[in-house]
Amino acid sequence: SNQQRMATTTSRFHTTTGSDVFSKIIRGEIPSTKRYEDDFCIAFDDLSPAAPVHVLIIPKLHTRGISNLFGSGAEDEVESALPLVTEPINDAEVVGKLFAAAARVAEAIGIDKTGYRLVINNGGDAGQTVFHLHLHLLGGRELT
Ligand code: C5P
Repeated sequence: SNQQRMATTTSRFHTTTGSDVFSKIIRGEIPSTKRYEDDFCIAFDDLSPAAPVHVLIIPKLHTRGISNLFGSGAEDEVESALPLVTEPINDAEVVGKLFAAAARVAEAIGIDKTGYRLVINNGGDAGQTVFHLHLHLLGGRELT
């Protein structure tokens, strides 16, 4: 099952094979304003912020989105996108680590007491425009 399947991360080498804009940010080919970074993920300011705080948290492995991690048909894409096996990680850990990083970033910025919103868009109807999994951290004002 997808729960059992082990995705793999190239994070130790800070590289992914994706051609999307976020993979380019991970590889340093496009600059970003980083808020947080560890072996697994990076967090950086959204270029078109929808709130005073709008940070994107992305894994340093390439997968298109939630349905590509947990949905059927995910295996081919993830495996082909990650030819280098360095550190095994399962799909649930991928998502869990993104949320953990978001909470750390929210604390560091100082919006953990006032509150914040975490959003993942998946697919066209949700308005997903960048097909590299990312978690939106929104805050700094009252959100409707
Ligand atoms: O979840 P969704 O795919 O809709 O969000 C993509 C986000 O990535 C948008 O908020 C957009 O402003 C941001 N973005 C960015 N830098 C880019 C391209 C998109 O911050 N170069």
